[in-house]
Amino acid sequence: MPQSKYLIVGSSHAGLSALAAIRAHDKEGSITLITQERHFPYSPTILPYVVSSQVKDEDIFLMDEDELAGHAVTFKQGAKLVSVDAASRKVRLESGEALEYENLLLATGAEPALPPISGLRETPFHVLRTLEDALRLRKAAQDAKSAIVLGAGLIGMHAAENLSKAGLQVTVVEALSQVLPGYFDETSSGMIQNIFSSICLSVVS
Ligand SMILES: Cc1cc2nc3c(=O)[nH]c(=O)nc-3n(C[C@H](O)[C@H](O)[C@H](O)COP(=O)(O)OP(=O)(O)OC[C@H]3O[C@@H](n4cnc5c(N)ncnc54)[C@H](O)[C@@H]3O)c2cc1C
Repeated sequence: MPQSKYLIVGSSHAGLSALAAIRAHDKEGSITLITQERHFPYSPTILPYVVSSQVKDEDIFLMDEDELAGHAVTFKQGAKLVSVDAASRKVRLESGEALEYENLLLATGAEPALPPISGLRETPFHVLRTLEDALRLRKAAQDAKSAIVLGAGLIGMHAAENLSKAGLQVTVVEALSQVLPGYFDETSSGMIQNIFSSICLSVVS
């Protein structure tokens, strides 16, 4: 069974920061970095630009095979962790493969929260959290004329801006009385809402 001194689950910001920090202190210890995704590490912050094709596909990734090799890390893509046995320091992947570790870091991030809206689960919709989500949304946007974005938070507004750049008429729906609630006061968010409205977005709050 493959054994690592450090097993990092998740190859996004937290996982890659941990990788760099471990290597700064321990040049020799074996590191395995796994992700359930079938891609090299990328930052979710780039995903809105993937939707509007403002970024080239080859510029999406934070690290390629050579850079990972430079950190002397064993990188496994499409490797979803499904169980941990802390007593025996073993994990199991969805594929059935087992891995042994000395130290385990779960850098598995977050998932989009779906609001309790009646009928939502029966309606085709997108979320924007992974590269696969962004590629699906980009494809759907190519055949669409308009989109409704639920939520005027940072990700919603960023998605709305890029759907608009992709040529769609976009309406943002926000439950509270201003865009970017929690980030800006009423005056500042009013200015931002005006700018968004001037680039063909309507905002309903
Ligand atoms: C569209 C979008 C735009 C954003 N823009 C900004 C921005 O402009 N500025 C900013 O500061 N922040 C932004 N963020 C937030 C930022 O991306 C997150 O705070 C950051 O990515 C969190 O990093 P993380 O490594 O903790 O988790 P994540 O980035 O969520 O990565 C977790 C990784 O673990 C993997 N994983 C999960 N479960 C398993 C499992 N069971 N087995 C194997 N792998 C697993 C996931 O597939 C994923 O690759 C944005 C987020 C999104 C979605």
